[in-house]
Amino acid sequence: MSGVRARTAVVVGGGIAGPVLGMALQRAGITATVHEAYPAPAGDVGAWLGVQVNGLDALRAIGAERAVLEAGVPTPRIEFRSGTGRVLGGIDTRGDDPAAPAGVSLKRSELYRVLHEQARERGVDVRYGSRLVGARRAGEGVLAEFDDGSTVTADVLVGADGVRSTVRSLLDAGAAAPRFVPILNLAGYSEHVPAGAEPGTLTMVFGRRAFFGYLLAPGGRTWWFANPPLAVEPARGELEAGTDARWRAVLAASFAGDRSCALDLVAATPGPLRAWATYDLPTVRTWHDERTVLLGDAAHATSPAAGQGASQALEDAVVLARCLRDLPAPAAFEAFERQRRARVERVVAAGWRTSAAKSPGAVGRVARDLVMPLVLRAGAARGQDQQAWMRRHHVDWDATVPLPRARGAAVPAGG
Ligand SMILES: Cc1cc2nc3c(=O)[nH]c(=O)nc-3n(C[C@H](O)[C@H](O)[C@H](O)COP(=O)(O)OP(=O)(O)OC[C@H]3O[C@@H](n4cnc5c(N)ncnc54)[C@H](O)[C@@H]3O)c2cc1C
Repeated sequence: MSGVRARTAVVVGGGIAGPVLGMALQRAGITATVHEAYPAPAGDVGAWLGVQVNGLDALRAIGAERAVLEAGVPTPRIEFRSGTGRVLGGIDTRGDDPAAPAGVSLKRSELYRVLHEQARERGVDVRYGSRLVGARRAGEGVLAEFDDGSTVTADVLVGADGVRSTVRSLLDAGAAAPRFVPILNLAGYSEHVPAGAEPGTLTMVFGRRAFFGYLLAPGGRTWWFANPPLAVEPARGELEAGTDARWRAVLAASFAGDRSCALDLVAATPGPLRAWATYDLPTVRTWHDERTVLLGDAAHATSPAAGQGASQALEDAVVLARCLRDLPAPAAFEAFERQRRARVERVVAAGWRTSAAKSPGAVGRVARDLVMPLVLRAGAARGQDQQAWMRRHHVDWDATVPLPRARGAAVPAGG
């Protein structure tokens, strides 16, 4: 099969990457249909997340940053504390450009909502209740099959269908399954405001038994999340069946004895609380074939501990659209993978390490509490923190994407 200049694309998955890819492809002159399995964008399960400066930069490249900024809570600082209440240090989450806005925190459902609204306002065809069940080559392009029996043909097919991607298994039936990350996730919106909490500061508490984070939000609320250790992978549906009382008991046991506001925040949180497990994908060996490519969580899901899941999906979407604008498939997919793989796999590895640091044993805890202030201070003295590389990324929309060189040749990093 020869290369093809894409004029049409089927995008599978209307989460974060899907609608943004739809908008970015439109800007690149490619018409996309975005197919979301569920009848509407994802609802609120109490989860909130960060769109970091690198994610905002990607949105800015296609003029889609404003609505996300308006929906989010600016979060220019992260402060780390131990379970004894000691401040271990802090980092500035802003990027190198002092004029650029700080990263924001927002409800996951709100992020989905504003991205979908923008995509629809721009005329991107987003189809809900449209679940991909199969795909095959058809002539020079691809034919996608949906569970309602409908089919769509396009020049290329993009799998933006998340950590349990169907497109990934169609590309590679032997692709590695997502890896269980041994932490539990719980989150909520509390009516308690902790004394001394600073607006714009995300406070992360390395408690004795579990990790806790909180942020002041508008309307006298405090958003929080908790990561108790979860040694054994739960059976499918087990966590969904957990009751509010069960999760409150887990949290009470996790934070008893810590000097933090965790228990006050949980007590003032309307239920029902929900919990979910964490999975990541350290290396997905096949990202593309001649006409199909993966992006976002489908290619490289990361533990929320990295704070980068959404931002990497946004970067991917805009970088892939540039590649398809300038190159035929599959050269566009090769260029995309070359630009993205090393970076996103480094993010996933960092997320895994941070997850492990959230629930160390007693010895690890003491070592961490001793070492972290030194590391943060040394970083601050150099005007940087250890994770600044994650946020330092710029997508130059106008630059032309060169043809990828033969394997083994050096390729410049960045977007
Ligand atoms: C409950 C929860 C909480 C999270 N909290 C955080 C956090 O605090 N911080 C953080 O950084 N990240 C967090 N994440 C991860 C973050 O949401 C993802 O990294 C990000 O959404 C990735 O975007 P995506 O577009 O690649 O995938 P997703 O946003 O997962 O979107 C994939 C979409 O594809 C759809 N889909 C799946 N299969 C099909 C199919 N066959 N046909 C059509 N559509 C399909 C799904 O319904 C979904 O809407 C959380 C994720 C979850 C689930």
